[in-house]
This record gives sequence, C-alpha cells and structure tokens, in this order.
Amino acid sequence: MTHAATPATTGMDGEQAAQTDGIHLVVDALKLNGVETIYGVVGIPITDLARLAPANGIRYIGFRHESDAAHAAAAAGFLTQKPGICLTVSAPGFLNGLVGLANATTNCFPMVQISGSSERHLVDLQRGDYEEMDQLQAAKQFAKAAFRVSRAEDIGRGIARAIRTAASGRPGGVYLDIPAAVLGEVIDAEKGASSVWELVDAAPKQIPGPDAVDRAIDLLAGAERPLIVLGKGAAYSRADEQIRAFVESSGIPYVPMSMAKGLLPDDHPQSVATARSLALKRADVVMLVGARLNWLLGHGDAPQWSPDAKFIQVDIAANEMDSNQPIAAPLVGDVGSVMDALAERAKPGQITTPAAWREELGAKSEANVAKMAKRLEAAKAAHPMKFLGALQSIRDVLAENPNAYVVNEGANALDLARNTIPMSVPRHRLDSGTWGVMGIGMGYAIAAAVETGEPVVAIEGDSAFGFSGMELEAICRYNLPVITVVLNNSGVYRGDEVSPTGDPAPTYLKARHDLMIQAFGGKGYQATTPDEVASTLREAIAAGVPALIDCIIDPGDGTESGNIGHLNPTGLTQKK
Ligand code: ADP
Repeated sequence: MTHAATPATTGMDGEQAAQTDGIHLVVDALKLNGVETIYGVVGIPITDLARLAPANGIRYIGFRHESDAAHAAAAAGFLTQKPGICLTVSAPGFLNGLVGLANATTNCFPMVQISGSSERHLVDLQRGDYEEMDQLQAAKQFAKAAFRVSRAEDIGRGIARAIRTAASGRPGGVYLDIPAAVLGEVIDAEKGASSVWELVDAAPKQIPGPDAVDRAIDLLAGAERPLIVLGKGAAYSRADEQIRAFVESSGIPYVPMSMAKGLLPDDHPQSVATARSLALKRADVVMLVGARLNWLLGHGDAPQWSPDAKFIQVDIAANEMDSNQPIAAPLVGDVGSVMDALAERAKPGQITTPAAWREELGAKSEANVAKMAKRLEAAKAAHPMKFLGALQSIRDVLAENPNAYVVNEGANALDLARNTIPMSVPRHRLDSGTWGVMGIGMGYAIAAAVETGEPVVAIEGDSAFGFSGMELEAICRYNLPVITVVLNNSGVYRGDEVSPTGDPAPTYLKARHDLMIQAFGGKGYQATTPDEVASTLREAIAAGVPALIDCIIDPGDGTESGNIGHLNPTGLTQKK
C-alpha cells in the first residue's frame, strides 16, 4: 500500500512512536485518491478536518448552508467524473446535506458526503447527546450506499469504499459517517500510513456482449423512423467523439435531453430538438443513450410515443431496462464501450436513415422555428420586459462566450431558457435535472467555477434563486467568476396574483437582488430592457468577477408551473 501520511504527533524522545489521528487519515486518504476540493460547512466535530485539508493541498470551499455544499459536490462529480466531496457536521448539518446527496443519487452524479456524528454509545442508547442522531440509518434510504467507520484504522478503507461505490456502475451519492471519537482517535503513524490506499480504476469500463450489440444493430438496420435520445448519462460518460461518429455515420436524427445539450452542438443538422414532439410520436425504433424513460420522457407511453415503438437502451445499469417499457435491445455497458462496439460490429452502410423521415422532421422543424421566431420578435419589443426578451439577450452574449458554463433553474426561467439558449460544448449546462428541483443554482454555479475556472452564468427564476441566494456571499468571498442573472417577475410562476386577505398572495415575492450582492462586495445591476441585459451581462463576463443582474420581468409573464402545470392535482391552476 502506498502512503502519504502526515503524522499528527512525532515522538520527542525517540522512544515514543510517531502517531497520527482520524482527521489526518481522512486527509491522507482523500489526497491519495486525487481529491482536490472539499465543499462543506464547518462546526463540531469537523472544523479541524476542514483546516487540515488546505494545509495539505486540498482546497476547502466553505458554504452558508449544507445543501448548497452538497449540490456543489454533486455538480463537481458530474463535471469531473470523480466523486465530489461534501463535508457536514452532525445531525442538522448532515440532514441539510442529505438533500444534495439524494439529488445526486437521483441524477446519477458521483459524490460522497462525509459527516461527523455524535458518540455511538450515547446515540445508540438515545441518551440525548449534542446533535444526537442515527445518521447512518437516516442516510441509507437517500443514498446509493451508506457506510460508517468505527475505528481510525478503517478510515482509508471507508473512503476507498465510498469513492469506489460512488464512481462505479451507475454513479450516485454515498454517505460516509465518521463519529467524532474516530476523527480524534490516535493511532500509530506507521499503522495509519499502511491503512490508506489509492484505488485502481475506480470506474472500470463495462463492455457489452457481442450478441447484445448485434441485436441492436439489426433493429436499427430495419428501422424506418429511427431516433436517438441523448441523456445526461451520455454527457457524463465523456464518449463525445464516439457518439458524434455514430450519429453522423448512421444519419439518425437525435434529441438531446437538457443536460446533454452541447454534446453535439445544438445547431447540428441532425438535431431535431425543434421537432421533438413529432420525433417522439412517430419514431419506430428509439435508441436511448444514457437517458431514462422516466417522467421527463413521458415514461415512453402513448400518445407521446408511438405504441409500436421499439426501444434500444444504452445504460450502465442493467436494472434500468424494462423500468417503463419493454426494451427490445438492452445494451448494458458504459456509453463509450457500447459506441465502440457498435462501430466495430456494424457493417459499413448497414445502419442508415430513410430520407423521407429526415424530410418529415426537417419540414416540421422549419415550421416550428418560424412560429417561434414570431414569438421571439414580439417579446423583444415588449415593455415591461418578457422572459423571452431577456433570454434572447442572454443567448446572444453567451454565443460570444461558448466556454461559459450555464446553470439554470426555475419554472418558466428553466423551460424558456432551455429552449432559447443553444449549447455548443459538452457538459456546459447544469440544471434542475431529474427531480426538476429548485435550490441547486448557487451550489452548481460555485462548483462549475471552482472546478473549471471558466465564467459561469446562472440563469435563475427569482423564486428558485431564493433557495440558495445566501451563497452569493461565498461567491464573493472566493471571488468566483459567477454571474447570476435573476429573471425577476416578482413571484413563483408569476407575480400578479392578489390574495383576498390582504396578505401577499402565496405566489408573490419581492426583492431587489442586485442590492443583495452589493452587501457582499459584488457588482449588482438592474436591467429593465433586453439591451440592458445584454450590455450588463457582456460587461460582467468580461470583468470576470462576481456579479448579479436583476432583470425586471413583467409580473404577468409566466405560466403556472411552467411546462408541467398538468401535474397540479386540482383545477385551480391559474391559466395563461
Ligand atoms: P436525462 O435526464 O438526461 O434523460 P437520466 O438521468 O434520466 O438522463 O439518465 C442517465 C442514465 O445514464 C442513467 O440511467 C445512468 O444509469 C446512465 N449512465 C450514467 N453514466 C453512464 C455511463 N458512463 N454509461 C452508460 N450509462 C450511464
């Protein structure tokens, strides 16, 4: 075993053996496994651990709330393919972090939440310790796996197990519980050094069987209206070249799920995102690549899909197959290995795409683009500013900055930005994801800036922003190039509702977000026209320092629940 021990105490008189302790072993094990950054919130019992990490070359980024730190670790995992590390204190801090851990697991992002916890002998007899909680038990249902280390000599093993589990197979969130007593436990330094090790091949390739590959090729070869759906698993797999080669050599039209946008540039001639409904409804053979047939794809059900459609599914998780529809050709493996195998086993010209299908989709796409152009034109001229007016300016400025990362959450702010803002580079869009969750914004933005050093533009609904808005302080404290653009229509969904009691309506909100960031030393702008949005965003990106643009949007603009209003169970939903 390799070791990189940083002994806590060294013998003074030559007789006493050098010693180390739990927190040094945690840092040693993380360092040995290439961890460069920890995202967390300090407190009992992990403050010294957070201090020790930077002293040993691991960056520590401190947050105001643990769920933001956990979301940051999850985003770091998605962006780097290495589990992001989140550090939390016991009970309440642990529970706050759990939101991010569960969201990471749901989205298949690798992360590890390491949490300090209270003394086992008190917790287990429920004697009422400081921040007492059986955290391991609580974490199990929200994580891919949960482990506890009960002896300092097992810290290296625990971290190895956590990283391996988070990164391999279907990635996910892993919980690692380290009680306070174990963090402080002193052991012999040599014994400690030999107890930590570096993982070999943390996420091994998974190669599909040849018969499974041939089955998929035969199905595609016989298709009249084939379609590829690229999901965030495809983006995560970093098989960009193989995916592009397969798409282009087969000529099959594709639709990207939101976080797969940019895997191939959105203006690629085979993208049929602008004819999505027709493509789903009419496709006879559908190849899902790192995309689940969950609610975001209507569970594969009619009428959104043809009842006769046959599905090929490329996924690293075998038990994802048949979760919604019969999978005619399961291709279990990592996307890169599957794409390699398809390229190797398909005969030249065996998989092609009938021209009639391409033309049908092309015509629909053209009509939809023309319809949208009219809507965009009208929005541009509207005053007060509409979502689509502001978003067109953001789109234009982002086109000048293709390396900028985009973070996006909200209801209307999410739906409209996703469709308005094209992506041209893989893994540059991070959004509400599988849960459609609000609150990921500042955590994801911080991770994107920290992990890549590139500018980040967080496009936020005003309600969504509020969940993690206090992290503007962390953004300013670390001087990160994050520009937060708040699409502020003064409400959840919209801001023009009134309540019969005279209280603010349940959906009403009110804030000058540009003033918030000024309190922390960042640059605040207010924009009331699309031109102002463009000029302030351009200026902020060029400056490369923390900034926030509060875009004042017509309070009457916005649809209740955005595109998913039909999920509201009652008929009271305000229509627009
Ligand atoms: P989207 O929301 O973009 O449709 P999902 O999160 O529903 O994407 O699906 C991602 C899928 O990708 C998951 O089922 C996951 O198991 C799978 N996946 C993750 N990493 C890989 C990989 N390297 N190779 C193959 N499949 C992967």
